[in-house]
Amino acid sequence: MIIAIDGPAASGKGTLAKKLAAHFSLPLLDTGLLYRATARALLSAGAPLNDAAHATRAAQSLDIAKIDEHDLRGAAMGEAASVVAAIPSVRAALIDAQRRFANQPGGAVLDGRDIGTVIAPHANLKIFVTASPEVRADRRYKEALGRGEEVEYDVILADIRKRDERDSGRSAAPLKIAEDAVLLDTSAMSIEDVLAAAIRLVEAKSAAAKPPG
Ligand code: C5P
Repeated sequence: MIIAIDGPAASGKGTLAKKLAAHFSLPLLDTGLLYRATARALLSAGAPLNDAAHATRAAQSLDIAKIDEHDLRGAAMGEAASVVAAIPSVRAALIDAQRRFANQPGGAVLDGRDIGTVIAPHANLKIFVTASPEVRADRRYKEALGRGEEVEYDVILADIRKRDERDSGRSAAPLKIAEDAVLLDTSAMSIEDVLAAAIRLVEAKSAAAKPPG
């Protein structure tokens, strides 16, 4: 079964994807890491993030099985990733590897922004995870406080709105809900509730796919 999970920054899609993949023993690809790793290659080389030729070469040379997650997490790298992710040739360079991952025998879980619309439009189940910008900012704020960081809620909220705007407004594979996706608004849900809802969706799809009798 191919499960596509899309949604905006800090919606909880990454956590859900991880838990769902573990529950069903499916391989998982966090596609945000591909754009984050591309951005890191440019930053390490001192190149501007909008250098399309450099970014495309960096994306082409990524081995998706060997991405070193070190330094890739965090809002600043997410913001940098969203700049390179708006470059069409960067997206094109990353499509085949993502599709191969999605189409492996036995299926897979992929999370990102364009999984249900571009990478795996044939996915068996598409979930679009969202939450209000305020709730997403609050989650990020509390996580940062928990790590002992000094942060301001308003700054985080402004960053989230800016990233939403860039991801939804770009011309190449903008963040949007696939027509056949199930919308999960997690604003008032715990991660346990979200996981339980997603498991029910997977089980309903599996039951529907089984031949009668
Ligand atoms: O999901 P994550 O926060 O790691 O993604 C970082 C950025 O990478 C996003 O803001 C988005 O611009 C980009 N991205 C994308 N398509 C994907 C996954 C991530 O454009 N499938």
